Amino acid sequence: MNRDETFGNGKIELRIDGDVAVVVIDNPPVNAGSHDVRRGLLEAFAAIESMEGIVGVVLAGANGTFVAGSDLKEFGAPLGEPQLPSVIAAIEAMALPVVAALDGAALGGGFELSLGCDGRVAATGTVMGLPEVGLGIVPGAGGTQRLPRLAGIPTSLGMICGARRIAAEEALRLGLIDAVAGDDLRMAAADLARRLGGKRRVRDLAVPAADPAELEAARSAALKAGKHRPAAIAAARLVELAATTPFDEALAEERRIFQDIRLSPEAVALRHVFFAERAAGRVDGLSAAPRKIQLAAVIGAGTMGAGIAYALLRAGFGVVLIEQNEAALAAGRERVEDLVAGDAAKGRIGEDEAAGMRARLSPVADLAAVAKVELVVEAVFEDMAVKSALLADLGRIAAPQTILASNTSYLDLDALAAASGRPDRVVGLHFFSPAHVMKLLEVVRGAKTSDETLATGLWLGRRLKKTAIVAGVGEGFVGNRLYAAYRGQAEMLVEDGALPWQVDAALEGFGMAMGPLAVSDLSGLDIAFARRKRLAATRDPAERYVKLPDMLCDVGRLGRKTGAGWYRYDGGKRHPDPAVERLILSEAEAAGRERRAIPDEECRDRALAALVNEAALVLDEGIAQRASDIDVAFVNGYGFPRWRGGPLWWAAHEGRSAVLAALPQVAAAVGHGFRRGDVEAMLERIGG
Ligand code: NAD
Repeated sequence: MNRDETFGNGKIELRIDGDVAVVVIDNPPVNAGSHDVRRGLLEAFAAIESMEGIVGVVLAGANGTFVAGSDLKEFGAPLGEPQLPSVIAAIEAMALPVVAALDGAALGGGFELSLGCDGRVAATGTVMGLPEVGLGIVPGAGGTQRLPRLAGIPTSLGMICGARRIAAEEALRLGLIDAVAGDDLRMAAADLARRLGGKRRVRDLAVPAADPAELEAARSAALKAGKHRPAAIAAARLVELAATTPFDEALAEERRIFQDIRLSPEAVALRHVFFAERAAGRVDGLSAAPRKIQLAAVIGAGTMGAGIAYALLRAGFGVVLIEQNEAALAAGRERVEDLVAGDAAKGRIGEDEAAGMRARLSPVADLAAVAKVELVVEAVFEDMAVKSALLADLGRIAAPQTILASNTSYLDLDALAAASGRPDRVVGLHFFSPAHVMKLLEVVRGAKTSDETLATGLWLGRRLKKTAIVAGVGEGFVGNRLYAAYRGQAEMLVEDGALPWQVDAALEGFGMAMGPLAVSDLSGLDIAFARRKRLAATRDPAERYVKLPDMLCDVGRLGRKTGAGWYRYDGGKRHPDPAVERLILSEAEAAGRERRAIPDEECRDRALAALVNEAALVLDEGIAQRASDIDVAFVNGYGFPRWRGGPLWWAAHEGRSAVLAALPQVAAAVGHGFRRGDVEAMLERIGG
């Protein structure tokens, strides 16, 4: 028998290979489980059941991947029949054994589908897991009930609540799969189907007994990994049901929770961020192909340069590390090598990989070395004179096609581009600190940046596994400009009557990873101080100016690195400091300013409203491409709680009335020079 058929609008192919039926899911690019896929699978299974001479079924994915997850676009509305549990029930009800052939990714609904099969074989490099909790939902097609039957409750708690992805080798160790396949995955799966000879349903297995102490430890670790968010709490309860409740009853409960939670504001917000991240790096009308560079130079091997060099090395690039003299070069080289050694010691990279990185790093104290590279990233001092002199040198020395990127945080990229004499080849690559850790990358498009240069910046972001947004030129680009409005409002709150720890607690209570004043301490108060000094000459004297941060710097309180800033630090822990409170009170008294008690809600709402207002301006000016890019930037670069969907999503939904009510307060607090954005129109566009 040899016939090929397709089902589900061509998304499912059925091939007969001797005595085995091979069902292939083909829904590019990642075979997401969609309505067509589910319907097609049921039709294919029904067709197989009417055939003769078949001893087993292989379920596989085309496009180099099994099923990377369910199509999240379907999750916001009622799900059409058939739903995934019916497909899995059909597999379990078939008389023939079904073996899943896993490669690429088997995640979420894809992994659940495989758990409904009688056996699983995976190609090396396959990743598996149930990441639903990270999207604010729970597995809804038996994942919380079948996984514990294979891996036990403690391991399942960790995997599900921590949204942990595991590799094929670990899956084999945990008993989730039967084998890691050699060269021919589908043949290995077919062999297993033949060997099984009959059904071996996961649902019929007993849940292995867990040691009480191990269970308790897994429970608390799981909730912590799930950040104690509602989806993690619900998922943990469901996993534990596996040990106490009959399978079908627990399965029904799981489905009930899934249907409920997928429409929760948190799940909707997390799906928004998911799609926003996928949209972020896209630029309408950009069709130029990137230059696929291999060798880059990083100039300035300080805090940022070292992190950028390390990120490039880890992504496989060759890196020429350049400093202004031998002493600075030696220190910079050591910083990069420490990063390599640190990750190797933690097992994040293998010894071979570490050796490869060391071999690809060439430190030199001579700018002439840029002549041979295809891309230069400069991370020298944030000083216009220093940077433009460097760009002018680079314009002379680097090959004409070489792309020149600046990591400047605030300086005018167009001025730097002009200094280079090749503005079309200049782009901003604004990394966040630490550059090898933080996900966010602002790719700054100058007035003359060519499409190829921009495309190369975005390509590099993808190679470095960053989430990139495109920003236009303007003081602080997108992220830092909005952040400055937010932090400025926090400082005004302190001047108006709040204390730093009250402002931070209000924003941390909202979900920010760290309050704004603690963040200033972490980055160093001297950085913003230097910038204020730079802007002093052009500042309108009528503008409100909060002197407190300058006063902290004047007494040597530069933040964490000096053991004191807005807070006092010991052993890395921050403490409210009565000395800071005295400083704040005496400054108010000297200025003859009345302080008033400020409610926590006002602290939170004013800081966030200031951010949202600046966002409206940035969008109107075209500095940011789209509102969702701003959400992506704050979630990935500034510790904004992902589960709130980013600042604009939050403001357009749950936070709308709080933001609109706080805007007049922000306007009054800023006073002279305040620019009001059209926040109402922006929120209307986002939230409808
Ligand atoms: P840094 O002072 O730690 O490092 C700068 C390095 O550049 C020093 O090692 C210095 O010796 C070297 N350098 C200076 N002039 C040079 C020249 N002409 N040729 C070669 N090397 C030279 O500074 P940093 O914090 O790493 O910041 C570097 C850049 O990154 C700045 O533009 C800054 O605004 C930007 N940035 C910093 C952060 C942050 O959090 N620190 C975040 C994003 C962007």
